[in-house]
Amino acid sequence: MSHNGYITEEEIAGEDGPLAGKTVAVKDNISTEGVRTTCGSAMLEEYVPPYDATVVDNLLDAGATIPGKTNMDEFGMGTTTETSAFGPVENPAAPGHVPGGSSGGSAAVVAAGDADLALGTDTGGSVRCPAAFCGVVGIKPTYGLVSRYGLIAYANSLEQIGPIAPTVEDAAELLEVIAGPDERDGTTHDARDHGTDYEFAAAADGDVEGLEIGVPTELLDGAEDTVVEQFWAAVEELEEQGASYHEVSLPSLEHAVEAYYVIAMSEASSNLARFDGVRYGKSGGYDGNWNESFARSREEGFGEEVKRRILLGTYALSAGYQDKYYKKAQDARAWVQQDFDEAFEDADVLASPTMPITPFEMGESLDDPLKMYLADANTTPVNLANLPAISVPVGDDSGLPVGLQIVGQSFGEKQIIRAGSALA
Ligand code: GLN
Repeated sequence: MSHNGYITEEEIAGEDGPLAGKTVAVKDNISTEGVRTTCGSAMLEEYVPPYDATVVDNLLDAGATIPGKTNMDEFGMGTTTETSAFGPVENPAAPGHVPGGSSGGSAAVVAAGDADLALGTDTGGSVRCPAAFCGVVGIKPTYGLVSRYGLIAYANSLEQIGPIAPTVEDAAELLEVIAGPDERDGTTHDARDHGTDYEFAAAADGDVEGLEIGVPTELLDGAEDTVVEQFWAAVEELEEQGASYHEVSLPSLEHAVEAYYVIAMSEASSNLARFDGVRYGKSGGYDGNWNESFARSREEGFGEEVKRRILLGTYALSAGYQDKYYKKAQDARAWVQQDFDEAFEDADVLASPTMPITPFEMGESLDDPLKMYLADANTTPVNLANLPAISVPVGDDSGLPVGLQIVGQSFGEKQIIRAGSALA
């Protein structure tokens, strides 16, 4: 049965290497030379990139086969994959429900067994949320671990490309292939300069003996009861394997989702200015007035959620309001970072439910953007603080999957992989 997980099914075969014989589906905002890359938008319906993203080069060098480009919320803006111009994706693990977003297609094709592995992108949770909703594993790497060259930007200061896989070890193996510094992306770092190496798959040894877990109470407060129950059951399982935990308060986290949306929308309004039908995107035609031509291109090319964010982002950056919104959000971002630093003085990792809720029914959140935004309360703080986090499946509530999020310190990927592999 088709879940509408792919926008384009076109095979790109790799060389030979550690991923030979494996299929890795790629989210449709990551450039593939000669294969159209739409960002889930009518604006880019016919856009065919002239070059490969660095991560795509990495996949092909490692011998992977790319079976196609996966469906997504338009330009990564959403939590359900329902804002795609190519129609919604159905959750293969929970029929009638959304797969999460924005990398919903990537998680769905892995959950359905239509690809062995997949790449998603995570600006505010878009790898972890669909992984949690579809009952698979997703990793959001430390900011700067993976090159973003060839990724069509939504909010540059927040996003990273990350793996989605059936198990923690598979996700770690894929991360190993795509991680590393890239001279074409000046924000990348060499992990070795941060006291670690790239042996991620070997770290999936399930050894949590002596691990100290901090549980931020703010990330349990708004969560559904059944999700909280599953969360504690998973923490107990880690305890039985030798870990211990304590509760900790990070007051800034209550404001993280607000700060995230101001920053993400501001960056988006600037990034999306290039889509005017002349430089990029669907042509608006020309009848003597360029302003009207640009307006027509954007009116027809962008969907409702994207327009909403361009308007709000432009407003937050406008003269007179910049200090009140954008600058304030940057202050909140610094506060979130400081709270995480303090929490890591007494904890190796932090744990929470990945999503405070189980998957929405299809159509449920479309008319209520605020409800959709608030669902990102637990994932967005991690992007604001540039930290790594993994979502692992920990059970389900009457067939609706629940995910556990484990957050690590900067370049602490091995620690979260080790902890996650004790569960999945
Ligand atoms: N749901 C969040 C948003 O809509 C996160 C999206 C993402 O990580 N790309 O912005």
